[in-house]
Parts: sequence; C-alpha cells; structure tokens
Amino acid sequence: MKFNLDNRFTNELPADPILENTRRQVTNSCFSFVSPKQTKAPKLLHCALELGKELGLSEKDMKSDTFLNYSTGNEIIPNTKPYAMCYGGHQFGNWAGQLGDGRAINLAEIEHDNLHWTLQLKGAGETPYSRTADGLAVLRSSIREYLCSEAMHYLGIPTTRALSLSLTGDQVLRDMLYDGNAAHEPGAIVCRLAPSFLRFGSFELPASREDITTLKQLVNYTIKHHYQHLGKPSKQIYLQFFQEVADKTLDMIIHWQRVGFVHGVMNTDNLSILGLTIDYGPYGWLEGYDYDWTPNTTDRQQKRYRYSNQPNIGLWNLLKLANALYPLINETAPLEKILENYKHQFESKHQEMFAQKLGLESHQKNDKELYDQLESVLHLTETDMTLFFRQLANTSKNDSPSMALDRIRHSFYVPDAIKDAIKLKWLEWMTSYLKRLQLESISDSDRKANMDKVNPKYVLRNYMSQLAIDAAEKGDYTLIDELYTVLKKPYDEQPAFEKWFQKRPEWARHKVGCSMLSCSS
Ligand code: AMP
Ligand code: MG
Repeated sequence: MKFNLDNRFTNELPADPILENTRRQVTNSCFSFVSPKQTKAPKLLHCALELGKELGLSEKDMKSDTFLNYSTGNEIIPNTKPYAMCYGGHQFGNWAGQLGDGRAINLAEIEHDNLHWTLQLKGAGETPYSRTADGLAVLRSSIREYLCSEAMHYLGIPTTRALSLSLTGDQVLRDMLYDGNAAHEPGAIVCRLAPSFLRFGSFELPASREDITTLKQLVNYTIKHHYQHLGKPSKQIYLQFFQEVADKTLDMIIHWQRVGFVHGVMNTDNLSILGLTIDYGPYGWLEGYDYDWTPNTTDRQQKRYRYSNQPNIGLWNLLKLANALYPLINETAPLEKILENYKHQFESKHQEMFAQKLGLESHQKNDKELYDQLESVLHLTETDMTLFFRQLANTSKNDSPSMALDRIRHSFYVPDAIKDAIKLKWLEWMTSYLKRLQLESISDSDRKANMDKVNPKYVLRNYMSQLAIDAAEKGDYTLIDELYTVLKKPYDEQPAFEKWFQKRPEWARHKVGCSMLSCSS
C-alpha cells in the first residue's frame, strides 16, 4: 500500500515548535506535531470500499494489517508526521478561546486521481488541545459518525467522509448523560477524510490574538489550495472568498433542512471552511416535523441549535468569520452586504427547495402561502417528515382531497387524531395543493420521479443507529453493514429494506441515544 503524499498543510504553514504532548496554549502556529496512542487490540469493524478506491486502495489493501495499523494509529504512514490542528471557536454563542483537535489526529495528506484528501483519526489519543479530556472516542459515537457521514454523502450533501470504523480494544470511561454515572465503554476510532478539516474557528483564533501574520498565512493558504479559482490574494479576493464560504454554508444548510438533519452543535469550531457537514456529535433527524426540535440534551433549555434555527445560526457563524477576516479587509460595508445577501438568498433558496419537495416545477405567486400553510398543518399532530414527503409523491392531480389525504395517512403518528378541526385543516391544504398541481404541465409519474429525487426514502433515524450500537456492543456488527448498504441508495425504493421506511417505533420515543444525546463522545 503506497500513498502519493502531499503534506502541504504541514509544509506550508507554521508549526508549533514544542514537540512534547502537553496541554498548552499554542500561539503563532496552525498545528502541533503529535503521535497517535498505541491501541491494545485493534479490529476493523467496517470500511468504505468505494471511498477507498478514490484513494487508490483495493479491498485487499483495506483489509490488510497495514491498513488496520494505519487507521488505528498503531503504525505511522512512512514519511509522514501526524499533527493536531490549532483552532478556536464560539461555543453556544460564547467565545471559548483555543480549542483545537483534542481527539483528532491528522495522519497525512494524499493526492490521488486529482483529488486531495487529509486522513484523520478521531479518537486516537491526547493532543496539546485535549484540555481536560482523554482524546478518545467510544464505539457508540464512532458508529454514529461513521454511518452518518457516509449517509450524508449518498444523500448528495457536502460532508467529510468516513473511511473506516475500528475498535481499539481499549476501554474508555464516559459519563454518558453527565449525571455522575460514569461507565467503561469500548473505545473506537473513525478514520475520516476531507479535502481539509479547516473550520471557521481556525481563522477566529489567530484573529482573536491579533496575530495577523498567521491569519493571513492561513487565509492565503486556504485560497491557494481550496479556492484556487479565485486567484492571487488581495482585499477583493478576500471578499470573494468570504462570499463563497457564505454560499457554500447556505447551500449545506438548505440541504440539511431538506432532509430534516439537525446538526446539534453548530459552534464555529464545527463549521467547515469548505461548507462540509463536519463533526457528527449529538445530531439527529426530524421524525415528527417539529421546528423546535434539537437532539442535543445539552442544549435542551435554550434550543439554540434547533432545526428551524440552523439557517440563522449559519448567518451568526458567518458574522464571526467576517469579524475574523476583517483585519485583512479593513472595511465593514462589503462584508455586511454579503451577510445581508445571505438572508435574501436563504429566502429564495428555501422556497426553491420547498417547491422541489412538493414537486412544483414553476414558481407561482401564491406558492409561499402553500408552503407556510403546509408547515402549520404539519405541526397540528405529529407527522413524520420523511414518510410524509415520500408518500405525497403518490398524489394524483385527479385525486379528491380526501383520497390525497389517505395517501399520506401512514405518516401520522396517531392516525386517529386526524378528525374534526384537524382533518378540516388538512383537507383545506390538500385542496390548495391539488389545485396548484393542476397548473403544472408535468404528468403524475414524472412529478413523482422528481420528488423522489429530493425526498429521501431512507434516512439514519436515531433509533436505527441505536439498534446498530446495541448489537455492536454485544459483538454483532451485521446491522452496521445493513444500514450502510441501505443508506447508500437513500432515494431508491429498495423493497428488501422496506422495514427501515417506517415511523420511529414507540419504544424509541424517550430512549437514551434515540431521543436524547449529549456531547459525551
Ligand atoms: P465538539 O463540539 O465535539 O466538536 O468538540 C469541541 C472541542 O472539544 C474540540 O476541541 C474537541 O477536540 C474537544 N473534545 C471533545 N471530546 C474530546 C475528548 N474526548 N478528548 C479531548 N478533546 C475532546
Ligand atoms: Mg468539533
């Protein structure tokens, strides 16, 4: 197994001169060299074979001892020097100072078929940025990260990728609900891939320290390698760079809203400068369509990162990035204009996305009303988002309103609740929708085909991950593979997997891991 190495991050950016692995403030540097912890008995649980091919790895390579050793940190790829990145961040609205890769270690950068990848291990031990924690990850959170990053990719949503999931053979102590009941759990490592793991917080940290030299080096580096089409850095190019980051961030969030993904911890250290979904922690998927839902119990009171607030938080985080870039631009008006524009862009892109979900090709004057009305009827009783949109595609223009309502009946958690005033409201909406469909020239079957391309049939519901976790903790890894397989084709019918196209079962409603998640990974 031989990689075509191109370690440009460590070659071109300033390194922390201290080599000891002690926890400290790291200044005037973008990263610290650090070695992964040796693991006791590593074991590969699953690997993404298609992704491996993109790196030039065969199935044989990925199932070899060498790969197992690289992907769990027991062996260093020859001619490489692993490192942890230095960054800061705003956490839950407050500046948290230096954070950094506390439990992630970058192995190397690889070039293959004109694609550039950074390989990173999550859970490979302490770094100078581990603060009070151990740098490790447990099996449950690693399964969640592994499955969800790949599921997002196959949904067509920009994301970091996951190449492999392994057990370390070590035990890790965790207080899962932060309630004083710590217990040992199996340790695991996910090998993640992305063109770059730089975050908004990577730029905020040098700016907060008024270290303009490092800030400028980092921004120039990012433009040179990840926004190369922009050309030679200048004030104008910095503004264009910010505009593109804003566009990518918005596109990513619109995708999240489309499929009902709630990130859960949209701190600025968890927002990628490339607009990739990154850091899968206490994320979740809307089941009942509920604006106010957040999977993260740590955010239960404030609900800062609830589903409906994700677009606003994107903007808030972009404002922090704008502040960080300001010393290179020295003018607020053009930055403000980009932020202001985000709001308008959001409105139009959100409407466009809603139109697609409803199978509408053209835009009509009163469509906004139709979307708003739908959002309010979806809130009348608990209605499963994924089931609803998927089943709505079966509507025929010639349906009566009650026939159309029957088609989506399966998406109500309590079908008997659809009576009296609630039923009337639903029939009212169906009447408007059917009337609206009459204005479309497209056939029922073509509309269904279009809708099925944007409304996934299969998403990684929390209870599905939890079933895979429960089985894996007992040594049975088959469900990880089954979910991985079904989520590779989320828009296809896949009749063999129909059992995953169902509402969240009642047992999962209040179960830890299904409805309650914390950051304790
Ligand atoms: P997160 O919000 O999970 O992305 O993490 C926020 C910060 O905490 C990052 O700097 C992480 O590296 C750090 N962190 C989280 N968990 C651990 C851990 N187990 N050990 C060391 N650092 C951690
Ligand atoms: Mg993070």
